Formats: sequence, structure tokens, C-alpha cells
Amino acid sequence: MNTKAIIESLRTELREHNYNYYVLDQPSIDDFEFDMKLKQLQDLEEKHPEFYDANSPTLRVGGEITKNFDTIAHRYRMYSLDNSYSKEDLLDWEKRIEKVIDGAVEFVCELKYDGASISLTYENGNLLRAVTRGDGSQGDDVTANIKTIRSVPLQLQGDFPKSFDIRGEIVLPYEGFRKMNEERLAAGEELYRNPRNTASGSLKLQDSAEVAKRPLECLLYNITGDRLGFETQFESLEKARRMGFKVPEASKLAKSVDEVLAFVDYWDEHRHDLPYETDGVVIKVNNLQQQEELGYTSKAPRWAMAYKFKAEQVSTRLNEITYQVGRTGAITPVANLEPVELAGTTVKRASLHNADQIEKLDIREGDEVFVEKGGEIIPKIISVDLSKRPEDSEPTQYITHCPECGSKLVRQEGDAKHYCMNYNGCKPQIIGRIQHFISRKAMDIEGLGGETVALLVNEGLISNYSDLYDLKKEDVLPLERMAEKSAENLIKGIESSKEIPFERVLFAIGIRFVGETVAKKLAKHYKTIDALAAASVEELISVDEIGERIAQSVVDFFESTENRVYIEKLKKHGLQLEISAEKLANQTNRLDGGTFVISGVFETLSRTELKKLIEDNGGKVSSSISSKTNYLVAGANMGPSKRAKAETLNVPIISEQDVLDILK
Ligand code: AMP
Ligand code: ZN
Repeated sequence: MNTKAIIESLRTELREHNYNYYVLDQPSIDDFEFDMKLKQLQDLEEKHPEFYDANSPTLRVGGEITKNFDTIAHRYRMYSLDNSYSKEDLLDWEKRIEKVIDGAVEFVCELKYDGASISLTYENGNLLRAVTRGDGSQGDDVTANIKTIRSVPLQLQGDFPKSFDIRGEIVLPYEGFRKMNEERLAAGEELYRNPRNTASGSLKLQDSAEVAKRPLECLLYNITGDRLGFETQFESLEKARRMGFKVPEASKLAKSVDEVLAFVDYWDEHRHDLPYETDGVVIKVNNLQQQEELGYTSKAPRWAMAYKFKAEQVSTRLNEITYQVGRTGAITPVANLEPVELAGTTVKRASLHNADQIEKLDIREGDEVFVEKGGEIIPKIISVDLSKRPEDSEPTQYITHCPECGSKLVRQEGDAKHYCMNYNGCKPQIIGRIQHFISRKAMDIEGLGGETVALLVNEGLISNYSDLYDLKKEDVLPLERMAEKSAENLIKGIESSKEIPFERVLFAIGIRFVGETVAKKLAKHYKTIDALAAASVEELISVDEIGERIAQSVVDFFESTENRVYIEKLKKHGLQLEISAEKLANQTNRLDGGTFVISGVFETLSRTELKKLIEDNGGKVSSSISSKTNYLVAGANMGPSKRAKAETLNVPIISEQDVLDILK
């Protein structure tokens, strides 16, 4: 076989395995073998950019960075749904339908998946674009991120309409959500609140490689377009399945409202056995002709109705309110409950959020409270059963001092939360900050975990992250569960973290509001920690995308004598506190402010290299052409639609060589 044929056969094979695994849940190859084949394909594609394919299975691992998501108008509007809560509501709806439609009406019942809605556009069987719902008329182009979701087919199978949109929901199954939070916990990071918000947040991550790591799924439920070749909704679901989409099996034809209600009752009880969240049932008129006759209101189709499940509630006793101190010093009140069964799990604790919440609901220790589990993993208290309030009950006095270190709490104007300001003397804050420092996205210190950090602090061996670098094997050996080998690994891990690049060190030192992306920006702009430390609020604000809040926080951080001591110590130990010379040599501001779109195959550089070159020199690379695009860098085999769009919008088309020339 020639190279092209090998590449193509690998792509086909990997596509099939992906489909079996992620859509059918029936793996047909073991993980290792899959990874080897993927690796083989990656290598070949790298060596042979001329065989580039925008829908190759290798793109599932992501890597494309989107700084600003382009706004795209939906070809067909994405509507919301009307809600119903009772049999009466449904019967009323049926009556309204009967006024318009002569003859029998059949319904399709589907589950209402709770995630983030998405619209996928396919042309000639290839995924062209994925756009969020946005305001219904236009949304954000999140194609690069969606391509990493394994259950989204990049190329369709069998028979398919030439051009259509398919709508569905991006969801995060419970299992994956739990795993993500376990990692957060281990890294000492704040936990994700619920699968829905985490799913929708994932769509707007700038780094698609990050999205690729999240176990998201895409469940489809509606095909939109012209000349689709089917007459009913039920048929369309079956068709979508055959094209390779993941369409849940739990859908049913119903001839009457009673049959609809039977479906609702069944799933109200069994929905907890599903791997992902559902918050109701969607009922649709099955016949597409009838759907068309019924039409739309300004916000929703008249041919569909959501039926919301009731959130489950129980009542139980609130035994005690305790207070937790986070890494930033934020105080979170926690309700400790008499254990009770709710939606299939035993609930012992509920979050009370903040002082206002306690006051608003007048929640007191000893109260009988109603607890509800909605989308949130941590249940919440809805109300107090006042009829059961003990006579000697007293209003809750919110704490005034830190439960861990005793210092006075502060609540700033506009903040819902109280904070312990004892930055350098409050144990959970100290431990939390060091846990953040060593976490995977920060210094990624191998051989050191969150619990060991707590142990090291409690044993008085370290009191801030810079102390880690003074540790010797003999210091840690006496610790609980520490053996010769693990002690060695720990010291080795700390040593190798000295190679971690500046931008990650900057993220690791825990300046409030400076997350990964901001750290990258600051590192790139200031290049050394000394330059950053010397910057004023005004200077910082002038940096692209740095606002007042971040600027002030950076200045505050470097004003602290302690922080300056820690940084000096990190410097002394040889950590990377400036951008490496090599990186610096390749970076300029020549392309500052320019937005580029690259398309096609290039001669001297791979697409990734070209992209990196543009970004390193201050330019932005976005995935689709809009009026904001400054240049389209065109290689061989560029799609005609891109060229046409560039021409309509008067976007200059330049070559790879032109880019290299500008940078000379
Ligand atoms: P709402 O956001 O409450 O107006 O409900 C409308 C949303 O429900 C739609 O935008 C979809 O994202 C979502 N949805 C989930 N499952 C389905 C389904 N089976 N059919 C239609 N919409 C659904
Ligand atoms: Zn404290």
C-alpha cells in the first residue's frame, strides 16, 4: 500500500473503533492497541501534511486554541421549549393542537437531557461547524472544541442529506463528573458544582486539548434542514442513529396524553439509573407536516412541550452548622444533617453558601429542613419547617472569627462571602496554597500529593511553597507512610519542577484571579517576574484582557513582604522566573493585534507550526473567517468556500511566505 492508502485505512479503522466505543458502548479493540494505531496515524500525518484532513480522528486530541469565539448566525433558529407541569397542562396543549390539526396526532416522547445545547452543521457528510445556542439566533463557533468529543461523528456513515443541521445536548455523565472532581480535590482546587454547568463551561475553554480530556458526550435529538427525506420525528431519530450519531434509545411513540404520562411516570422513577442527568421529558408532535402547520410562537415551537420532573425533596434535621476555610480564605457555611436518603444517595451535608442565605431562610441549628437535589451534586436547603421549630431555638449567629486561626473575618463591599485575612498564618489557607502550587496544571510535582502537603505543614516542615525546595530526604523519611523509595521520588519530583516554564510558575504561586490563561498572558507580556512585580495597576490594565480586579490583585500580591521573600527564595533555588532565552528569541510583537485564519496545506511549515509562529509573534489565530479577520493565510487545497468568504468580506489572502517575510 502507498502512504496515502495506509493513512486512509487507519482513519477508517479508527473511526469505526471510535463509533463502537463511544456511540454504541461496544468496544471493539483494547485501549492500548487503539493508542498505538492513533500514534501511527499521527506520525504519518505529521510527515505527510499533503494528506491533511480536517476530520481526521487524530484531531480528537485537540490542540487548537481559540482566543475569541466567532459569532455565527444559525441557519435555522434554535428555539426554547414551553414547560408543563401537570396532566391538565398537557391536555390543554392537546386541545390547542386539535384546533389547528384535523385528524389523529401522534406524539414522540424523549428524555430532556440537561446539558448545553449545540447545533452541528454537516455538509456532504462532514462536520463543518458546531455552534452554541447563544440567544437562539446566533451563537459561538465552538467547532474546535466539539471535534474532540468522541461521540460526535466527524464523518457520517451510510445515507445522509447533503446539507443539514442536527441539534443536541452536550452532557457530562455523572461518572466522568465525579472523576473530574476527584482530581480537583486531589489538587486542592475548588470543586465543580454540577455536570450541566461544567459541560457548558467546557464548550468555551480556549484550549481544545483541555476539552479533549473531559469525558463529554453529545446526545442528538433533532435534524433540521430542507429535503431531509423523512416524514416523522421518530423516523428522523432512527435515521440519525444510522448516520452514526448517538441518539438515546429512550424514546417512544405515544397515541394519547395518557401514554405520554405513562412514559413520564416510568422515567421519573428510572432516570436515576441513567448515566447522565435528565430534568424532564420532551413531547413532540411526530408528523413533520403537522409540525409545520402548528408553527412557532416567538420563543418556542407549538408542536413541542417540555414536562419537567419535580426536583426530589425530603425533610431532615439540621444538627449543626460548621464553617470551612478555603485556600483563598473564603468561608463556606455547611449544614450537617441527620443522614437521609435522597435521589438514590445518602445525604449528610448541604451547602449554605453564605451568611445572606442563612439569614434569608432563617436557618437554625435544630430545625427540621427541606432538602432538595436539583442539578447540584451538593444538595441545598430549600426551606425550614417552622411548625417543627423547637421552642428554645435561637437565630443563627454567623461566626465573626476564623474557625481555624481565630482571626477576625472580613466581608468586603460587594462580596457575598466572609474571608479570613490571615493569609500567612491560617492553616487551611497555607495548605491549600501549597496544594495548588504542586497541582498538575501548576508545578505538577510528581511523588507529592495533597495529603502529604498537609502532613508536611502540620509537622512544621514547611510553611509555604518555597520551603519545599529546602526539603531533604532525611526530613521526609520519618513521615507516616513514607518509605525510602517514596521519599526519594518526592525529592526528585521537587527537583525536576525547577524546569517548569515561567508561565506555569506564575500560575502556581497563587495570585488571586490569576488563572492559567491570565498567567500565560502576563508571562508573555512582562517576560520576567521582576518586571511584573514592578508594574503598576495602570500599566497592568493596559495589557490586553487584564482588568482592574486582576491588576489590583497582582499589585497587592507583590506588595506583601512575605510573598517577595518566597519569590526570592524560589529564584535562589533556580526556578524559571522568566521566559527562557530560547522562547524569547522566537517571540516578537510584530503581529500584535492581527487576527489570522489559516487554511490549506503549507510547504515549509505544518499548520501547527505556522499557528505557533503567528501566536508567538503576537497574532491571534481563529478558526473561521469573519469581519474581524485581518488575513487569510492560504495554502494548497484551501476550501473554495473559505476563499469566497474572504473575498466577500475583503479579507486579504496571503501566503505562508508572506508571513515569513513580515517576520524577517
Ligand atoms: P429550556 O432551556 O428549558 O427552554 O429547554 C429547551 C432546551 O431543552 C433545548 O434548548 C434543548 O437544549 C434541551 N433539550 C434537551 N433534551 C431535548 C430533547 N430531547 N428535545 C428537544 N430539546 C431538548
Ligand atoms: Zn483563618
